[in-house]
Amino acid sequence: MYITKAELQDFRNYENLVIEFHPNVNLILGNNAQGKTNLIEAIYLSSLGKSFRTSNDFEMIKFGKKFFRIKIEAEKKDEDVCVEMAVSKESKAVKLNGHKIRKISELLESIYIVVFSPEDLKIVKEEPEKRRKFIDRELCQIKPVYFNNISKYKKVLLQRNAMLKENSPKITLLEIWNQELCEYGAKIITHRAEFVKKIDKISSEIHKNITNGREKLHVQYESNVPFMKNLEDQKSLFLEKINENLEKDLLRRSTSVGPHRDDLKITINGIDIRKYGSQGQQRTAALSLKLAEIMLIKDETEEDCILLLDDVLSELDEERQNYLINSLSGIQLFITSAELSEKVKSTLPEGKRFYVENGK
Ligand code: ATP
Ligand code: MG
Repeated sequence: MYITKAELQDFRNYENLVIEFHPNVNLILGNNAQGKTNLIEAIYLSSLGKSFRTSNDFEMIKFGKKFFRIKIEAEKKDEDVCVEMAVSKESKAVKLNGHKIRKISELLESIYIVVFSPEDLKIVKEEPEKRRKFIDRELCQIKPVYFNNISKYKKVLLQRNAMLKENSPKITLLEIWNQELCEYGAKIITHRAEFVKKIDKISSEIHKNITNGREKLHVQYESNVPFMKNLEDQKSLFLEKINENLEKDLLRRSTSVGPHRDDLKITINGIDIRKYGSQGQQRTAALSLKLAEIMLIKDETEEDCILLLDDVLSELDEERQNYLINSLSGIQLFITSAELSEKVKSTLPEGKRFYVENGK
């Protein structure tokens, strides 16, 4: 799969842009603050319907304008795909192949995109939320039903927490939220546990190769509601934990157990590298996880995903850069950089170069 064309209107610092891409490598060069990341942000919107930089769609409307419009076209194995999006302060409309969609989940199986930025290099050492996001973004693409479960779970969690913050929470209402929380939460736990198992297998193999067999990477799902093979058992266990913690929740006025507290345990040769890893180990593990993510999409969907490398190449040493580029042959790449050396540029496979200056 690859993106063939993008059209942007009043999107961030772009007024009007029509651009055609190369099926292999698209190198997007330019000084800082010119619009390189903005361009790949627009492309990314076609995969998950939301940005990897902000949760406020209207932030992407060009200053002083009322709405933005984008159109992204892609070619897949058996079909062409076109995603259009128009966003104003009040509304958001998304069209897939000319038809308006009602829910973002209808978009998710169209274009598979993975973004890799310097932020992602930090996922191993940063707070658990970053690692949950890593899992969620990928799962939403390969299992659109997951997107619905996670949206509903978050909504119920907000309602339950709001109720806990009231001066005299209504226990009967809490019980209703508890049921719903367990309904969606159990599904999330099941999906996440299965996902992490697959990612563990793939990333550990990749990591072994990158480190010439020196390091054994192991990724485990960490949840305060342990994973159960049977979904009904999972729900019951979650409910049990919720009830056990009711007093604590009432006291703290928030929900203490559930997948919103999940994490990924990441070890190298048995040592928890979230805490004890060197910076190099943490970054290499992040690279292995990202590459595993790409391979898993291929395994699950039989489509090659598109990879957006935002400023990340110059963050890696030569050996890692080469590993990354070589393991991605056949995948469409968008590489942004303000300072990529000629040496690196010359090692890239065939492609097209774009120079961005002030939104043009
Ligand atoms: P760097 O190399 O520093 O990452 P970049 O080329 O990736 O730079 P972008 O993040 O794509 O830069 O673009 C940043 C520019 O876009 C900034 O000058 C910023 O002010 C501008 N910008 C961001 N949002 C909007 C908006 N809604 N309307 C107009 N301009 C915007
Ligand atoms: Mg940038």
